[in-house]
Amino acid sequence: MSSQSEIVLTKVPVPLVAGFQWSVGELMEKFIKALADRKIWGVKCPECGYVYVPPRWRCGKCYAKLGEENLTELSGKGILLSYATAYVELDGAGSFKDLSEPKPIGAIKLEGADSTLFMPLGEVKPEELKEGMKVEVVWREEPKGELADIKYFKPAKR
Ligand SMILES: [Zn+2]
Repeated sequence: MSSQSEIVLTKVPVPLVAGFQWSVGELMEKFIKALADRKIWGVKCPECGYVYVPPRWRCGKCYAKLGEENLTELSGKGILLSYATAYVELDGAGSFKDLSEPKPIGAIKLEGADSTLFMPLGEVKPEELKEGMKVEVVWREEPKGELADIKYFKPAKR
């Protein structure tokens, strides 16, 4: 006697909530909180003098340990080293969609810093961008101590 079994697959929706958090480290936390006061902190290596923004806990050049005592305030002004313009963005479904307007992104070296920040650029057309141009930070109206407090960088007024 033979029996046949049948497998029936049933789709059962299961709500899934994945929460996570991670520590950004003491110096990065100070950097983020200071944005609420429209301040940009970097960290200066006591051994080789290299200035990082955002701050980090160990120097990538000489491996010296960096701490709160090495924090240094930077102006929101800098130089545009290079840039790229995005014309598409991820659509959330594994593909791309066209942006309503191009979004330029800049590699910026803040005055007094040695490292490079990658930030969106605003109030400027992609064709007006030039390597070496002066740029300055534009804060969101009511900074809250979040990375999003820096809206973008724009060409600096002379
Ligand atoms: Zn160093």
